[in-house]
Amino acid sequence: MRRRSSTAPAPAPTDHSSRNGEFVDSIYFSPEMDAFRSRTRRFLQDHIAPHLETWESERSIPRETWKLLAEEGLLGLHYPRAYGGRELPFFHSAAYLEELGHLGSGGFRGAMSVHSYMATSYLHLAGDHRQKLDYLQPAIQGDMIAALAITEAQAGSDVSGIRCEARPTPTGDRYTIRGSKAFVTNGMNADFIVTAVKMRNGPAVTGGSNDICLFLLDPRAPGVTRTPVEKMGWHCSDTATVEFDDTVVEADRLLGRPNTGFFWIMKAFQIERIAAALLALGEIDHGLDLARRYANERRVFGKPIVAHQAVSHRLAELVSHAEAARQLTYHAAWLYSRGKPAVSQCAMAKLRATELAVEVAGQCLQVFGGHGYLAEAPISRLFRDTRLDTIAGGTSEIMKEIIAESEL
Ligand SMILES: Cc1cc2nc3c(=O)[nH]c(=O)nc-3n(C[C@H](O)[C@H](O)[C@H](O)COP(=O)(O)OP(=O)(O)OC[C@H]3O[C@@H](n4cnc5c(N)ncnc54)[C@H](O)[C@@H]3O)c2cc1C
Repeated sequence: MRRRSSTAPAPAPTDHSSRNGEFVDSIYFSPEMDAFRSRTRRFLQDHIAPHLETWESERSIPRETWKLLAEEGLLGLHYPRAYGGRELPFFHSAAYLEELGHLGSGGFRGAMSVHSYMATSYLHLAGDHRQKLDYLQPAIQGDMIAALAITEAQAGSDVSGIRCEARPTPTGDRYTIRGSKAFVTNGMNADFIVTAVKMRNGPAVTGGSNDICLFLLDPRAPGVTRTPVEKMGWHCSDTATVEFDDTVVEADRLLGRPNTGFFWIMKAFQIERIAAALLALGEIDHGLDLARRYANERRVFGKPIVAHQAVSHRLAELVSHAEAARQLTYHAAWLYSRGKPAVSQCAMAKLRATELAVEVAGQCLQVFGGHGYLAEAPISRLFRDTRLDTIAGGTSEIMKEIIAESEL
């Protein structure tokens, strides 16, 4: 079920509408936000949904898609106007992220959310004016594709274990980068990669996570090799291993002060987790919409599947869990949007919403019987794609670690 403010007109039902297009009142969304959500959903249905199958089989999203979303004003909703953003309240982003999830393509929502709510977050938080003009503005305008490379083959959850390193050149105006990054979303298409490295022989090296720095790296620079990886889902999203073999980068491509990378990563994780939770809510709605429609249409033993209590109760439980996850996520987003402490709530929202997305995808596939297992069935794509939700952007176990640390 979708949210709407008390005065907003309900949008016309679409193929992917929830509960026959019905929106319900919400304290979080203004009428303007509801209108924005309806427009965004129509835009995504008209311009993106028809191409998803092709992009899935091509294992790639065409570059011009970023431009298309930028022209719709979707790539810089929360970013400053000075760099081409729209400076809208965060719940516009919340609506956009839910609608991205509601499209039912993990790959598409992954590519776009990494671009706007993960990689470019570091420019927004730590970048200087020049860097924002050179990278954030073109990313918001859809002229550059952004990627984020923190994870390495031996270090994912444990960010402090990264080994990719930067060494200052003798002249001090450049660094050489050496090492390998794993699972880089948009890695093959990216025009810049926000890359976490350890500083060697630089200022104030103290080991652990204190020597982590973030660089804006050009993936087409000499010494960079990008290799695509094949995945069980998220097919239209390109994912790459990126290797740096003494790649030279100018010192002015360092984001923030030296050795502040870990601080910025922890800070940016807040919006990343809220975004992950909101995307998962959209996926949950999508799965429930598909199952609800099928359960009403498909007849077995003389009546629709939904008339069998085992099915209707299963769906009723999932809808209730979805409502709980939604309220938790909106509350965390509200805290975050007001700059209040929300580390624990963001982790709870990510944990609950993504775990539920995985459960909903599995349970809804069950409603479809064998038809849900066919490769081309939208519910089977949701099943494959949501499996990543509890892993990427911080696993469920790590979310529990964070919650335990602050609540127990
Ligand atoms: C398709 C895809 C796209 C991705 N995109 C990006 C991207 O764009 N940029 C990027 O930087 N990364 C990206 N990632 C990486 C992703 O964020 C990591 O996979 C994730 O953080 C987990 O790290 P890991 O795979 O190294 O698992 P590990 O950290 O090795 O964890 C393995 C298991 O151990 C558990 N575990 C770890 N530590 C603890 C603990 N303290 N207590 C209990 N259990 C623990 C984990 O929960 C997990 O179940 C992507 C991954 C995939 C698959």
